[in-house]
Amino acid sequence: MSAPSDATPPVQRKIIHCDCDCFYASVEMRDDPSLRGRPMAVGGSPDRRGVIATCNYEARAFGVRSAMASAQAVKRCPDLLILRPAMDKYREVSRQIFAIYREYTELVEPLSLDEAYLDVSLCTQHAGSATRIAEEIRQRVRDQVGVTVSAGVGPSKFVAKIASDWNKPDGLFVVRPAAVDAFVAALPVDRIHGVGTVTAAKLRRLGAQTCGDLRPWSADRLHREFGAFGARLYKLCRGVDEREVTPERERKSISVEETYADDLPDLQACLAELEPLIAMLEARIARAQAHGTIDKLTVKLRFSDFRQTTVECRGQAPDRAVYARLLSEGHARRGLPVRLLGVGVATSDRDRAQLELFEWRQNY
Ligand SMILES: [Mg+2]
Repeated sequence: MSAPSDATPPVQRKIIHCDCDCFYASVEMRDDPSLRGRPMAVGGSPDRRGVIATCNYEARAFGVRSAMASAQAVKRCPDLLILRPAMDKYREVSRQIFAIYREYTELVEPLSLDEAYLDVSLCTQHAGSATRIAEEIRQRVRDQVGVTVSAGVGPSKFVAKIASDWNKPDGLFVVRPAAVDAFVAALPVDRIHGVGTVTAAKLRRLGAQTCGDLRPWSADRLHREFGAFGARLYKLCRGVDEREVTPERERKSISVEETYADDLPDLQACLAELEPLIAMLEARIARAQAHGTIDKLTVKLRFSDFRQTTVECRGQAPDRAVYARLLSEGHARRGLPVRLLGVGVATSDRDRAQLELFEWRQNY
């Protein structure tokens, strides 16, 4: 590292994305080592339309995945042991891990119980080396908490997040600023966050396999093909992502969801189910005394093929028209029958805030 000059040059951003490996499953294996080395998962029961929340790598070898129906998981892996989730325990472990992160920087942005961005641009430990900070964090979480964290280091959130997945599990991958251009150019388009199966298929149909293939496309063309998301694609395919790491995002989400015994066949049927869900949500918000802290409205859909999508927008209170619009938007993404519908709000109240995931619990 060179010494800062008097002219205060722009600070090179250094972002670490930390992501625990099969988090819930790791915590369970830590607490009961006899679970190691055999396929196991944390999730709901196969006979109650439960889903897999997390599974270990032994289970993944059988094709078991997060968000897969437990019944299907057991079909793929008959010896799969499925434990019920112990959310309170995972939250406590998460608190310990985040306390370690915060010893390095205040700029910690949680994405879930086990995932966060850390902006270490101004850190002084290890002479400011983000790579060495990431290594130390990984070591400390392993030693002090007993689970493994994979980490990605890069000059933006976009690059750091992709990098953390590169050497998973228990891996570290560093993309130096000078390497970003080539790294992103070679990146398959479906690695871009927000590019789902449908968008990826469309990109491939139009001849774009990698981010590099997209670069000759004009901003206009990308907008024409992909609407508002096109502008983001224009930047991301060039490795440009200026989003800041924003702490204080200790959000609490309040949500209500329902898994239907019979799939809802179409959008009309989904819209008809909104009212009772919103009524339940309002009751929960009242019980949590969360009025005035809401800043986001969300709708979640899980389709008959088990793919899940979440649509959200800013909002201060549950609003039927807004939920109907979000639902229509989410439904259009796949247009399949729907097995689960959820409505929720996110709050940003710092005092009561607690790291929270979308509630899996409803399914257990
Ligand atoms: Mg994880």
